[in-house]
Amino acid sequence: MSMFCYQCQETMKGSGCTVKGVCGKTDDVANMQDLLVFITKGVSILANEARSHDLDTISADKYVFESLFITITNANFDKGKIMEKVREGYLQRKALIKTIQDAGFKIQEGLHSSTYWIGQTNEEMEKKAESVGVMETGDVDARSLKELLTYGIKGIAAYAEHAWNLGYKDATIYAFMEKGLEATTRNDITNDELIELVMECGKFGVNVMALLDKANTETYGHPEMTQVNIGVGSNPGILISGHDLKDMDELLQQTEGTGVDVYTHSEMLPANYYPKFKKYKHFVGNYGSSWWKQKEEFDRFNGPVLLTTNCLVPPKGQYKERIYTTGAAGFEGCVHIPERKNGGSKDFSILIEHAKKCTAPEELETGSITGGFAHNQLFQLADTIVGAVKSGAIKKFFVMAGCDGRMKSRDYYTEFAKAIPEDTVILTAGCAKYRYNKLALGDIGGIPRVIDAGQCNDSYSLALTALKLKEIFELNDINKLPIAYNIAWWRVKKQIVASTSFPWC
Ligand code: SF4
Ligand code: SF4
Repeated sequence: MSMFCYQCQETMKGSGCTVKGVCGKTDDVANMQDLLVFITKGVSILANEARSHDLDTISADKYVFESLFITITNANFDKGKIMEKVREGYLQRKALIKTIQDAGFKIQEGLHSSTYWIGQTNEEMEKKAESVGVMETGDVDARSLKELLTYGIKGIAAYAEHAWNLGYKDATIYAFMEKGLEATTRNDITNDELIELVMECGKFGVNVMALLDKANTETYGHPEMTQVNIGVGSNPGILISGHDLKDMDELLQQTEGTGVDVYTHSEMLPANYYPKFKKYKHFVGNYGSSWWKQKEEFDRFNGPVLLTTNCLVPPKGQYKERIYTTGAAGFEGCVHIPERKNGGSKDFSILIEHAKKCTAPEELETGSITGGFAHNQLFQLADTIVGAVKSGAIKKFFVMAGCDGRMKSRDYYTEFAKAIPEDTVILTAGCAKYRYNKLALGDIGGIPRVIDAGQCNDSYSLALTALKLKEIFELNDINKLPIAYNIAWWRVKKQIVASTSFPWC
C-alpha cells in the first residue's frame, strides 16, 4: 500500500485507493496532500491557542481553508504546489508562536507533533508524507469519525474560501474548523465527542452556506429563471469551470470587447443565472455537461479552459496545453493564474491572448436549458407552486441534488428522472443535474419539472425552500411535506452538504 485515500465515492472497490487514485491522483501526490493536512492541523492547534488569548489568527485561518480546499477530490494534482503550501504552513506556525510569545504567553508543553515537525528537504517531506494520513488512527470507529469530521471541514473550507474571495468572512466558522481539526489529533478523544463534533460540523455547514449565499447574491444579484444557450457562437472562446464566481466576474470583465467569448462548463453553469453576469453580451452560455466529460468536451472546445476549483480530470493529449488553473486547482505542466495582490484582480490576459489564436468552439448541441431557481426566485413562484400542490397538479417533489459520476451505474438517475410520474418535480443542485436536465420532461403549469437551484452549495436554497413550504402549509414537521430524497453522493464537499442541507433525512 503506497497511499491510502477513501474520501470520495469513486474510491477503489468502495474501500480505498491504495496504489493510485481512481481520480488520477498518484501516490506521491496523495501522500503530500496527507502531509499538507497534517501541517494544517498543527497550524490549527496553534491558532486555537492564539485565539484562546484573543490574539489575531486571520492569516492562519486563511491558510487553513486554502490548504484543505487543495486536498479535496479532483482539485489539485501538482505535488510541487502542495509542497509549497506545506512550507507556507511552517511559516504560519512560526508566526503564531511569535504572536503568542510576544503577547507574553507560553506555548504549552507536549503539543501534537504537527505543531513542530519540519522537513527541510524534499526527501524529508516525502518520507514524512508516507507516514501520516488516514491510517494513523488505529481504531476503525475513531478513524471513520475523524475522517468524517475532516471531510465535513474540507467542505466548509471550500465554501469559506469562495465567500472570503467576495469579502465575506466569519471568524466563528474558522474557529470551528480549527477546533475540529485539533480534535482529530487527539488520541484520548471519545467516539461520543467525535459524534458531537460531526453534528456541530453540520451546523457550521449551514452557516458557511448561508454566508456564501449572502456573498454571491449581494454581489451578483439573486439568481433568476434563465434560459441558458447550450449552442456556440462564431468567436473564439474561453471555457470556465469550477465554482468560484469572483473568477467568473473578473474573466467576464477582462474579456469584454476583446472578441473572445466566454462559456461555462459543469458547475459554473449557474453563473448564467446571475443578473450581473447576464448583462455581458459575450457571455454565450454553457458548453457541454458535467466534469467527467472533460476529455471529449475540452478537446472539442478548441480554446483555453480555466479551472477555478474542482473538478479537474487529469488532462492528457492535445488539449492539456489549453488548460489553466487558479485558486485551489492545479496540475503539473498547466499554467496557474496567481492570486490577487493588494486588492487587485487576477490577470487573465494570458488566456485571452491564447484564445485569440484559437478557432471557435465546435458545436456539441443546440437549444437551451432552464435554471436559476435559487430561493429568491422560488419564493417568488411560491403561490404558483403551492397552488399546483393544492390542486393536485404536483403530487411530489424529488430532491436529486449532488455530484455526477462517471460510472455506468449513474445512468440510474437518468432512468429515475424518466420513470417518475408526470405530476412530480425534481429539485436539484450540483452537477448531478446533467443526468436529466436535457431530457424533455416538460413543465407543470409553467413550472419546469427540473428545478435547478444552482451549484452544490446552493443546496442551501433547497433547504430554505423546504422550510418555506413547511411554513406555508402550516406543518409542524418538515417530513410531512411531499418531498422524497434521492441524493447523488460523490465528493468530499457533499459530506458537508449532506449533513447540513438535509438534516431531516
Ligand atoms: S479522492 Fe477519491 S478517487 Fe481520488 S484517491 Fe481519494 S478516494 Fe481515490
Ligand atoms: S457538484 Fe461535485 S462533482 Fe460536480 S463539479 Fe461540484 S464538486 Fe465536482
